[in-house]
Amino acid sequence: MLSKESDPIQYWEAPSAGEVGATIEEFLEQLGSPTWIYVPGRDHSRCRVITTLLHGNEPSGLHAVHAWLRSGDTPQTDLYFCIASVKAAQHPPGFHHRMLPGRRDLNRCFRPPYKDAEGVLAANMLHRLCAVRPEAVLDIHNTSGSGPSFAVVTSNDARHVALTSLFTQHLVITDLKLGAIMEFEGGDFPITTIECGGCHDPHAHQLAIDGVRRFALKKDLFDNDSMTANLVLYKHPLRVEMIEGSEIAYADHAIDGPDLTLHSDVEHFNFGEAPAQSVLGWFGPRGISCLTARDPIGCEHIEHYFEVRDNQLLTRQPLRLFMVTKNPDIALSDCLFYLVPVNELHRH
Ligand SMILES: [Zn+2]
Repeated sequence: MLSKESDPIQYWEAPSAGEVGATIEEFLEQLGSPTWIYVPGRDHSRCRVITTLLHGNEPSGLHAVHAWLRSGDTPQTDLYFCIASVKAAQHPPGFHHRMLPGRRDLNRCFRPPYKDAEGVLAANMLHRLCAVRPEAVLDIHNTSGSGPSFAVVTSNDARHVALTSLFTQHLVITDLKLGAIMEFEGGDFPITTIECGGCHDPHAHQLAIDGVRRFALKKDLFDNDSMTANLVLYKHPLRVEMIEGSEIAYADHAIDGPDLTLHSDVEHFNFGEAPAQSVLGWFGPRGISCLTARDPIGCEHIEHYFEVRDNQLLTRQPLRLFMVTKNPDIALSDCLFYLVPVNELHRH
């Protein structure tokens, strides 16, 4: 049974298939707060960890954990699940809020100081990871906008690549430091972020369910697999952000007022190629100065990749855009999208 502790994370040991609620809503109701679940495997000398629901509006990973637990199957190694932002997910209307109103984004809290509730939770998760010394950690998310799946890692070594290939053929390598769990370097285990596509994309939940089964059942996670041959690598994407205090809208024509109106179709650029001179939207009176794209050492690149003509925001060269979102809150508080120039794409 669930044990409620003073710890920020409660513990559920070896739930049987019948104990787990029939729907993910019932499952969340059972949890009620952040939960660490232990599932004994065939080989107790090794373990693997899946963290998910760091963002309350990204349910694919929760579907996958729920499906695994309801299957009653035995994993190859011991398995731990950490379901994090249970309360944000339950906050009405359900699976709508990335975090609780007024609170910090949990996946920006995995670095000191660990002071507020999110920081304490993040620190506790890292402490638990180090304590169980897993072979590998997956952190499962959905993208804010609609689009295909991809993985995000800080290093494209063989272990991260093998984990990626359980789910997807698109691999983003980044050294941006945002405080995400995958940036953690204090343990000798690879952490791979899986973005299953948008939560309303038809295949996102199934991709998570199938990938988690492969992760749980594979005997050796890191043996060579033909799937890794087809990986496309996106190295060190730039984050395109709006400067603080900007306003954004989405429409199929220019709108008076906001600093930027993004085309209502802009999500279709997710992982498709945006050729040079693609129109992404329209600027307000401030023009391109409302946008910024700085690299990790602080150099500004926005005018290298974009230009303005007749108030239109145009690409200067062929670009791959991803994490394009039509959620204005995410666009303003996190970023508009990431980009990699097409001539810098790599095949693994
Ligand atoms: Zn997320």
